[in-house]
Amino acid sequence: MVDYSKILQNLEFFNISTDSFTIFEWKPPKSYKSYILDLNIVKKNPTSNIFFHIFKGEMKIVHIRLKNLIYTAGSNNEVQFQLLEALIEQVSVVFNEIYDIESYIKYDNFSTSMFSSFKEEIDKIISNFNSLNCVRDLKVPCMVCNGILIVIVKRSFIEDAESYPVPLVYNHKGHAILCFIDKNYDIRGVELVNVTG
Ligand SMILES: [Zn+2]
Repeated sequence: MVDYSKILQNLEFFNISTDSFTIFEWKPPKSYKSYILDLNIVKKNPTSNIFFHIFKGEMKIVHIRLKNLIYTAGSNNEVQFQLLEALIEQVSVVFNEIYDIESYIKYDNFSTSMFSSFKEEIDKIISNFNSLNCVRDLKVPCMVCNGILIVIVKRSFIEDAESYPVPLVYNHKGHAILCFIDKNYDIRGVELVNVTG
């Protein structure tokens, strides 16, 4: 099994915001970078419950709006989007277990210092990531690279699917493959697909 905790060492920030301000931010030790411009773009997106991906040169950013909060994770290109999504899913569950954040926001009754110890929870989630069992790594052949790629998928993506096999596009090195994954995580087909945007 892939060491997901090691891959997640490439995480550059994790931010939890309301529409108006950041309530929590995690960064690796000795990181003084600011992601405020990226976060301003993220906050302008009004859509809820859908993960959005931003490619930004050397960085990947994933964000989702869930109820009154916006969760954003950024990393270098070593981390696949599905792994960042799985991290956000885990963090949002733990954050809402520890804090009754929706009622704090409703009654406007909190100070962001309440959340500073949550940094330790993020460190814990990252270091225990393999035991959380929320992702799988699949071996997928690519007909362009002529090699086997390791594709990380969230369990929630496969297990919550409405039908099988589930299609997933893996975009890498300037080309993309479409893989079909069944409910046992077996690869049922791989096609080269054209991409535009
Ligand atoms: Zn390839």
